[in-house]
Amino acid sequence: MQLARFARRRYTPFWTPLEPLPNLSAALAGPELWIKRDDMLGLASGGNKTRKLEFLVAEALAQGADTLITVGAVQSNHCRLTLAAARREGLQCQLVLEERVAGSYREDASGNNLLFRLMGVERIEVVPAGTDLAAAMQRLADDLGEQGRRAYLIPGGGSNALGALGYVACADELLAQTFDLGLRLDHVVVASGSGGTHAGLVAGLHAAQAGLPITGVSVRAEQAPQEAKILALADEVLALAGAEVGVPAAAVMVEDAHVGPGYSLPTDAMVEAIQLFARYEGILLDPVYTGKTAAGLIALVRSGRFAAGERVLLVHTGGSPALYAYQDVVLQDLQG
Ligand SMILES: *Cc1c(COP(=O)(O)O)cnc(C)c1O
Repeated sequence: MQLARFARRRYTPFWTPLEPLPNLSAALAGPELWIKRDDMLGLASGGNKTRKLEFLVAEALAQGADTLITVGAVQSNHCRLTLAAARREGLQCQLVLEERVAGSYREDASGNNLLFRLMGVERIEVVPAGTDLAAAMQRLADDLGEQGRRAYLIPGGGSNALGALGYVACADELLAQTFDLGLRLDHVVVASGSGGTHAGLVAGLHAAQAGLPITGVSVRAEQAPQEAKILALADEVLALAGAEVGVPAAAVMVEDAHVGPGYSLPTDAMVEAIQLFARYEGILLDPVYTGKTAAGLIALVRSGRFAAGERVLLVHTGGSPALYAYQDVVLQDLQG
C-alpha cells in the first residue's frame, strides 16, 4: 500500500510519542503498559479525529468546498476538531449535534461545546437521538447550495474508508516507531466507537502482517454488531488503499463490557481509570471514550489476561476537553 497516493493535509508535524507507563504498571502488578499519545496530535487539543481529517479535508479542498458539515454528540471531539481544521483552512463549519441522551444539549455547557462557540461555528442544529443524520446534514448542505456555496459532508467520527486511512497511517507509524525503539509489543487496546480508528488500525496492522493483536473497547454498541461494522470498514479501507488482502474475522475483537448504561453515561470503572491515569502518570483521559477504554484495559490486566513481561499498548485517542463538562463525575470519591 502506498498512502502517498492520497491527497493529505498535515496537521501534526511529528510522530506522536510512544511512552511507558511505569507507575501504573507497577501499581497494577501486571504486564508492562505503554501508551501512544494520539491525544497530542495537532489541531485544537488533539485526538484521533485529527488523523482522519488530514485525508478528509484534503478531499474537501480538492472538491472546492467552502464549508465542512459534520455530525456528532453534544460534546463531540470530532466536531471540535472538524471545526478547528475548517478554521485552519479558512473554511466555514456547520454542525448537526445528536442528543443521544435526551435534554443533554446546553448552549452554555463547558468542554467541547465552549470550544464550538470560541472557534466560531457557523451553525449548530440540535436533533433528537434516532434522527437520520445524513439527511440532516444534507438539508444544511442544500441551504448552502441555494446561496451558491459548496459544502463537504463528513460522516460521524470521520469514519468512512477515507478517514480510516488516517489510522492505517498510524499503524505504519507505530510499527516504524517500535522498530526504531527496539520495542516488541504483544497487544494493543483502543476505543471502538464510530469505528474508523479501530478499523484503520486492524487494516494497517494486518496489511503489514504485524502479528500484533488488537482489542477494541466498545463505547456504545454490543460486541457482535460492532465487530461486523469494524470488519466491513477494515475491508473497505484496505480496498481503498489498494491492498490485495482482506481482514480475517478473527483479527477483529471487540470487548463490550464497559459501555455501562450507555454512550457517554458514567461508570465507576471509568471514573477509577481516569483517576488512576491522572494520579499515577499525569495523563488526562476522558469520560466518554478513553476512560471506558482504559477501564477495559485495567479489567483485562486484573483478570490475568496478560503475562508478566508482556507489553500492552493503549492508544490514547484524546478527548480531555470533555472532562470539563463532567467535573462532579470525575472528582467523585477522590481521596487526597
Ligand atoms: C471519536 C473518539 C473515539 C472513537 O474513535 P472512532 O474512530 O469513532 O471509533 C475515541 N476517543 C475519542 C477521544 C474520540 O473522540
